[in-house]
Amino acid sequence: MSGQRVVIFANPIAGRGKGRVLAEKLRDRFEREGWEAVTAFERPDEVNSTILAGMTAAVAIGGDGTLRSVVERVTDGGENEGPGVLVVPMGTANLMGRHLGVGLGVKGLEERAVAAISGRRVVKLDVWKIRSAQSEQMFLLMVGIGLDGEIVHALDRVRKGPIGFASYVIPAFGTLAGYRFHAIEVEVDGRVVWPMGPAVAFAGNVKEYGTGFPILPLARSDDELLDVCVLPAKSATDLIEHAVAMVAGEHHLREGVVYVKGKGVRVRSKERVAVQTDGDPAGWTPVEMELMKTRVGFIVPPT
Ligand SMILES: [Mg+2]
Repeated sequence: MSGQRVVIFANPIAGRGKGRVLAEKLRDRFEREGWEAVTAFERPDEVNSTILAGMTAAVAIGGDGTLRSVVERVTDGGENEGPGVLVVPMGTANLMGRHLGVGLGVKGLEERAVAAISGRRVVKLDVWKIRSAQSEQMFLLMVGIGLDGEIVHALDRVRKGPIGFASYVIPAFGTLAGYRFHAIEVEVDGRVVWPMGPAVAFAGNVKEYGTGFPILPLARSDDELLDVCVLPAKSATDLIEHAVAMVAGEHHLREGVVYVKGKGVRVRSKERVAVQTDGDPAGWTPVEMELMKTRVGFIVPPT
């Protein structure tokens, strides 16, 4: 098969510089297939549109944050389904790569990427928009409101370069130790499902979370619905109890826990509460989330 024009987006610092090397190897390999291939190491929103013109596939090398910016760029902010994005997971936060089953270990990766793009098996997944007073952005995976939002904001403040285990865990403990559980109110499709009270809330499209625990065990990424889970929590102890149940996949069945699905979600609070989406800060409450018009195409490896 020929006539492919592949744009390879890579976060050059992902995997301690392996992102760039891998992108160049893939470009050379694609060129040997007779395809046109270009690399883009800039932030996706800064990549010149002449580079993107006529592309038949995009490759995103990096973590969930990189993937989200690539999708945002190649779909014109969710206006179209895009050329088809192949995810090459790299770095610590690559939930989407795992979710799509693109478990591309480094060995044999180039062959698998070529096979995936030639085979062109495309799955179309829902994408969502989250709006706060500070920002409006697309998300693919999950929104966290409360403690994990606080952790992501704290991490973002200290983050310089690639994320390592320590840079996740140290702000996490620092945040947990000093965290006050704020009261929030959660509304789904116009109905208040959680009246103002201390809790943490998650809304998302995939089951798993960064830790591998299924926070939203009933979530599907193509049902045009966002799964919403509100965990009542006044203290770290409450949250630890939820986490224990979560390992067993039973937290959503606990008394007091709210688990619903809907198309539109609003979260308000008396004091501002930190929000994260797909591992990046997404401002503070109040926030609202809604389904975007078009689904986005992802290229997945042949089964
Ligand atoms: Mg869904």
